[in-house]
Amino acid sequence: MKTEFALSKARDYTSYDREHKFGLSEHYYGENIDHKLEESIQKVLNNLNVFMESDRNEKVQHYFKNTKSVYVESPREKDFEGMKLNLSSLPTLKQVNVMAAPDFGVVFSDNKYLILDRKTGQEKMDTDGVSEQLKIYALKLILKSNINIENADIEVYEIYLPSLHQVGGKIEKADIDGIIKKLEEDVEFQKQFLVDSDIIKNQPLTPSHFPRTKSEKKCAICTFRYVCEKLKAFE
Ligand code: SF4
Repeated sequence: MKTEFALSKARDYTSYDREHKFGLSEHYYGENIDHKLEESIQKVLNNLNVFMESDRNEKVQHYFKNTKSVYVESPREKDFEGMKLNLSSLPTLKQVNVMAAPDFGVVFSDNKYLILDRKTGQEKMDTDGVSEQLKIYALKLILKSNINIENADIEVYEIYLPSLHQVGGKIEKADIDGIIKKLEEDVEFQKQFLVDSDIIKNQPLTPSHFPRTKSEKKCAICTFRYVCEKLKAFE
């Protein structure tokens, strides 16, 4: 983390260098965040220690030795092709590109699966229900492995660190039908931004179609705030 932080801090943000893409937006904006580095390192170490000493780690070790296969996402080498959902069998969505990759997956057998996603941000207050993100992961698995959800046992959980609190459950057919419907609705909603609902004719619409948020809080941490401000001169 210290090496990457130093690289980010020393980077020249005034020119584009395709070989050096990594950089923190705070450094791009010239903010001094040196004091936050140690705090972030301690947070990561604490999360790791909590996980290593937990029953959950024992379970993970067990999965590696005793299950058919285990998937672990590599955050440093994003496989963008592998992240795509194969939506070709869904006529209303086959032209849409949806990308998703969980942190961890286990195949116990041809009809028993487990998907885990670790979270380090603010915990959800609700304690039940499967998030849309987890449903997308389940949909991806179903489409990829041609699974009949009515005969399969797919469990999905978000695991919060450091509390190890988990939110999720078993995926039902209604979850999959619901997330497909949600994707279809989202696509319909986005079509209103196309000229004559035609992708080919699509041209950028005037800025009035994309009003800026009035939330200063959102703008303060938005990575586009520099460009956003500059664009005002052309409106
Ligand atoms: S700075 Fe970001 S959040 Fe704020 S209006 Fe511009 S794009 Fe939206």
